[in-house]
Amino acid sequence: MTTTTTLPAPTYLRHALEEPMKGSGPRALAARLICPCEGEIHEILHPGGVETHDDGTQRLIPTQVGKRTFGVWIARCRGCATKHTLLDLDVHGWNAVLVTRFEDPKRAKDPRPELEIWDCPCGDGGQRLAVRLRSGGRADYVSKANETLVKELEADPEAWADAFSAFALDATCAGCFREHTGLIDELTG
Ligand SMILES: [Zn+2]
Ligand SMILES: [Zn+2]
Repeated sequence: MTTTTTLPAPTYLRHALEEPMKGSGPRALAARLICPCEGEIHEILHPGGVETHDDGTQRLIPTQVGKRTFGVWIARCRGCATKHTLLDLDVHGWNAVLVTRFEDPKRAKDPRPELEIWDCPCGDGGQRLAVRLRSGGRADYVSKANETLVKELEADPEAWADAFSAFALDATCAGCFREHTGLIDELTG
């Protein structure tokens, strides 16, 4: 008998994530992001903040725009220009789903800032992408879920996967093949 032992994809990324890769398990999912058009190469749109470490590695970080900070990152398919939201800290992850959404619902409704393309130091913005997610698991979610969230779970039994606790993005440059491991690396719960 086989059972599903892999963390499901978050609802908003289901359409674009491939089969779970090595590193996946009941509380972890690692998967490549491929556009439904079969496009593998995406440009990463971000609010501007970049942290460069001593070894030259870069990390895209939440960025102050106007009066507040935004952590929103989008992958735009180079083939068909479809945009796939990778992560929006006001909407996705444990804190957003279980806390912010009910205590400060305005955060998710504020207009998102203009985003710019992040380029690899080689000058090419085209990247092959994979995401890594971690979760506290379904039981943990159910134990904290309020009435609204329980109803959502009845309608979509995998909705709990949106309340992941950590998100990371690994990019491999299509131009120079450099690996940008953990280009995005956020704790979300
Ligand atoms: Zn596409
Ligand atoms: Zn490059």
